[in-house]
Amino acid sequence: MIHLFEGDITQANVDAIVNAAKNSLLGGGGVDGAIHRAAGAELLALCRALPDKNGVRCPTGEAKITDGCNLPAKYVIHTVGPVYSQVSNPADLLARCYRNSLALAKENQCGSIAFPAISCGVYGYPIEAAAKIALEACCQKEHADLDIYFYLFGRSDFEIWQKIYRRLSS
Ligand code: ADP
Repeated sequence: MIHLFEGDITQANVDAIVNAAKNSLLGGGGVDGAIHRAAGAELLALCRALPDKNGVRCPTGEAKITDGCNLPAKYVIHTVGPVYSQVSNPADLLARCYRNSLALAKENQCGSIAFPAISCGVYGYPIEAAAKIALEACCQKEHADLDIYFYLFGRSDFEIWQKIYRRLSS
C-alpha cells in the first residue's frame, strides 16, 4: 500500500525511514542533515563504524541499515542516489536505490517504510522522472504487504508525486 504525505520524514512513525545519503554516509545537507540532527550524534557514530573502501561506505544505488537512534523510526536505511548530471545511467541507479532499500526493509521484518524524493534535491534529478521511477519500483506486487510512505518536502513535489501515482494506478 502506497501513502503520499507532504512533510518532514524525520517525524515519520514507521519501522524504517530512508535517508538520501552521500557515499561516505557521514552526513550532509538536505534530508541527510535533517535525519542526523533528529537522530542524534549516535547515528553518525553508527555510520562511521560501517566498513568503508577509500571512504565509500555505500556505493551509489546500494543501501545500508542502522538503528534509528532518537528517531521515531526503528531503523534508518541509508541509500545513495545518483548525481543526475554525472552518471550515464541515472534511472537504473535511482531504481536500484528504491529496490535495495525495500529489500533491506523486508530482510529486517519491517512492515512500514518511508522514502524521501531521493536525488531530487542537490543531486538534481528531474522530479517527474524521479517520481515515476520511485513509484514504479514501489508498486510491485511483491511489496503489496508493505506500507510504503513517501514524504515529499513542499507542495509542488507532493502534487507531482500525486499526479504520477494517479497516472500509474489508472
Ligand atoms: P539528494 O542529495 O539525494 O538530492 P537532498 O537532501 O538534497 O538529497 O534532497 C532530496 C529530497 O529531500 C529533496 O526533494 C528535498 O526537498 C527533500 N527533503 C529535504 N529535507 C527533507 C525532510 N526533512 N523530509 C523529507 N524530505 C526532505
